[in-house]
Amino acid sequence: MQMAASALAPQFLEQLARIVGDADMRTDPADRLPYAYDNSRRQAQPQAVAFATAHAEVRDIVRLCNEFLVPLVPRGLGSSTTGSAVPVAGGLVLALERMNRIINFDPANRALTCETGVTNSTAQEAAGASGFFWPPDPTSAAYSTVGGNLACGAGGPHAVKYGTTRDNVLALRAVTGAGQELRTGVYTTKGAMGYDFTRLLIGSEGTLAVVTEATLKLTPKPEAVRTLRAVYADMEAAAAAVSRIMAQPVTPCVLEFIDRASIDMIRGYAETDLPQEAGALLLIEVDGMAAQLDKAAAAVEAAARGAGCVEVRAARDAQEAGALWTSRKALSPALRKIAPKKINEDVVVPVSRMADFIGRLGELSKQYGLQIVNFGHAGNGNIHVNLLVDPENQEQMNHAEPCLKEIFQTVLSMHGTLSGEHGVGLEKRPFMSLEFDAATLELMRGVKRLFDPKGILNPGKLLPEN
Ligand SMILES: Cc1cc2nc3c(=O)[nH]c(=O)nc-3n(C[C@H](O)[C@H](O)[C@H](O)COP(=O)(O)OP(=O)(O)OC[C@H]3O[C@@H](n4cnc5c(N)ncnc54)[C@H](O)[C@@H]3O)c2cc1C
Repeated sequence: MQMAASALAPQFLEQLARIVGDADMRTDPADRLPYAYDNSRRQAQPQAVAFATAHAEVRDIVRLCNEFLVPLVPRGLGSSTTGSAVPVAGGLVLALERMNRIINFDPANRALTCETGVTNSTAQEAAGASGFFWPPDPTSAAYSTVGGNLACGAGGPHAVKYGTTRDNVLALRAVTGAGQELRTGVYTTKGAMGYDFTRLLIGSEGTLAVVTEATLKLTPKPEAVRTLRAVYADMEAAAAAVSRIMAQPVTPCVLEFIDRASIDMIRGYAETDLPQEAGALLLIEVDGMAAQLDKAAAAVEAAARGAGCVEVRAARDAQEAGALWTSRKALSPALRKIAPKKINEDVVVPVSRMADFIGRLGELSKQYGLQIVNFGHAGNGNIHVNLLVDPENQEQMNHAEPCLKEIFQTVLSMHGTLSGEHGVGLEKRPFMSLEFDAATLELMRGVKRLFDPKGILNPGKLLPEN
């Protein structure tokens, strides 16, 4: 389908102004620039930006874009790391940041309904005031929206116990690419009627529908949390401990890991109390009723100890817990300083294959002469693989592509998946056909055609060229 590539028709802009009002649209290049990029550092100028403030406006804008064949990219706060929010086909960016009302908070039914421009942090604050939380907890909570979290299938450290976005949404209100209004899901915690469009729209990266409202499934905040830090001689020992921890009955609410290369990087950047022989570390938290936590923490600590364990420290209070987190928290700023343009992947392998996978990454690092630093959500086998490349260094860039391909092939050969929480966007689009067979991709294209027959929604994302 050929869509408007350059200037938008004056009639389109007039009708758009009638829907949102002149004050809520932008056509000046300087005003459009902030909506041209996301955290992938890619950029492409949209021809216009409109700020929707209500579901009906979204519906009318989608219908208008259908009529004029204008590409439409829904946008939360542009923190996507994959280029999914970059308007590569130009057209209209539909900014949802002003759809930021909490519509209903219902503690008895553990549900919070909000517009999708609400930030993750604001939703957490609203739920937290009555002792609840919404489990998806990306580090970007303060500057990412519930709509963006849904669209990317976001997660965070607590996913090991509480799941990701897909596991924590009851219902959605949305407008399909064809301009149809729909409500998906149920208000109850059980529901077995028909196809599950809620889970379909979650992770669809704005390619099927614009989600305007979401009913989030809340969880009561635990009464107490315990933090442990376990240090290992090498990643193999740490990975074996992860397998032991995940195979016993107490599920930790956080189980994060850092490999040797990350530890070396932290040492060069910040003061640390890590023992000299540290070759990997795990940060572990257990939560629940205060009276039961001694036993739960002891069970997890026992599983954490074993061959290759150098030390385990348990925090006695919140201040000590903060100190145990220091090394993990020093990592992101260290990486940003040392390799601001690194390639950051978020692959997932079965927990039992983590040691093999990290070992293979070590081999690939040597083979391609690229420094690779790994950390992530060990309890899910979700590994942030960072290739520390300098885009100005052509040799490194030439090596990065085949190295990445080998990393992805290794992941898939281990029954893993190419993204645990960041999604596909532009970055992983060329690799979709590595993970999915032709028949599955064709079915996905069929779903896309059904929801968005004219292909106006976020074109050029997620699905590879046919
Ligand atoms: C420093 C940093 C840390 C991060 N940490 C994490 C992390 O720990 N875990 C994690 O999972 N991610 C993380 N991310 C990635 C990012 O924050 C998430 O993907 C986030 O969910 C995107 O939200 P957003 O509002 O910024 O969406 P945007 O970037 O604006 O959009 C992302 C995608 O969602 C679509 N979209 C947005 N709103 C809607 C809507 N209402 N309806 C339909 N489609 C929509 C867009 O079209 C686009 O495809 C991090 C990013 C940064 C920069």
